[in-house]
Amino acid sequence: MSRFLSSRFAAMIPYNTSGDKSPSDDLIRLNTNENPFAPSPKAIEYAHSASHGLNFYCEPECELLTRKLSEFLNVQSSEIIFGNGSDEILNFIFTGFCENGAIFPDITYSFYAILAEFHAVKFETIPLDENFRIIPEKYFALHGRTIIFPNPNAPTGLRLSTSQIETIISHNPDSLIIIDEAYADFSGETCVELIHKYDNLAVIRTFSKSRSLAGARLGFCVACENLIQDLRTIKNSIAPYNINAMTQAAGIGALEDEDYTRENIREILRTREFVREELVKLGFEVLDSSTNFLFTRHTRISGQKIYEELLRHKILIRHFNQPARISDFNRITIGTREQMQLMLEALREIIGGNY
Ligand code: PMP
Repeated sequence: MSRFLSSRFAAMIPYNTSGDKSPSDDLIRLNTNENPFAPSPKAIEYAHSASHGLNFYCEPECELLTRKLSEFLNVQSSEIIFGNGSDEILNFIFTGFCENGAIFPDITYSFYAILAEFHAVKFETIPLDENFRIIPEKYFALHGRTIIFPNPNAPTGLRLSTSQIETIISHNPDSLIIIDEAYADFSGETCVELIHKYDNLAVIRTFSKSRSLAGARLGFCVACENLIQDLRTIKNSIAPYNINAMTQAAGIGALEDEDYTRENIREILRTREFVREELVKLGFEVLDSSTNFLFTRHTRISGQKIYEELLRHKILIRHFNQPARISDFNRITIGTREQMQLMLEALREIIGGNY
């Protein structure tokens, strides 16, 4: 550490990106819930065309992309804001909307707690039940604190229905409710339409998962006009050109190629169900999944051991040491059918007759 860092960041533990891609390794990466399929050819073509204009600043309000998305979602352009990945939208939320504190589940996307620490936001976590489910009633009457959780939740893959979410929103008229729908395209259910009924709801989504654009960094938030205006104030104060020109173009291409996205989602879901059945045969317990990943533990072998042995086979999955309640679980991203066959073969070898 240098002697110049502000003291309040001295003890920060940042988001762990150590499992992320290095161009030189030959691992099968099933650890960050990326889409195994390339971006739509249209997204690639449009991004390439946009590269010729990189000498100019990009258009700060993403007008064309916003218009396309507004038609796609059936909301107004004034109800949308884009972020450099949905992580940036989350950063805007923790920057400007958590004065009264934040509430999220004890087992959830780890970035929430990191952002809360970073922005000195007081937060409280609410335990999932023994089946790793969010209990809506525990989120009633939270008196102005900002409530945030993914639906479907990560890393569990479990989801609440839109009507369960609506009960949380209607019981908390003085709280802002953030529903992080990073994986909602895989569940097919979204609460975007509720933004027209509730002015205390913001829905965050991403092009990283279903639309194969994780590396382009494109996320967005849908909410009532006033909330979006406030988010825009924050964005334009810290990152006015947050979506680069190639990413804006790629996003438009992806939206114009919905059939491509739909087919990839269908293939990922087919593969997920195949993998689930095979894992069960190998003695794994697998939680229901509404996402492009499975959350699973073996009945006999520890999560750490499975993780390490798969790594020896050059297959990287996500292991969580903490909290202790999930230390025997691993999260496995659904890759291509071929990748998953290789993983299953490796698991058969690792487990041997041990199930
Ligand atoms: N929310 C959840 C629940 C996630 O799992 C992720 C992916 N790590 C994100 C948000 C962020 O995605 P991105 O910044 O790529 O849009």
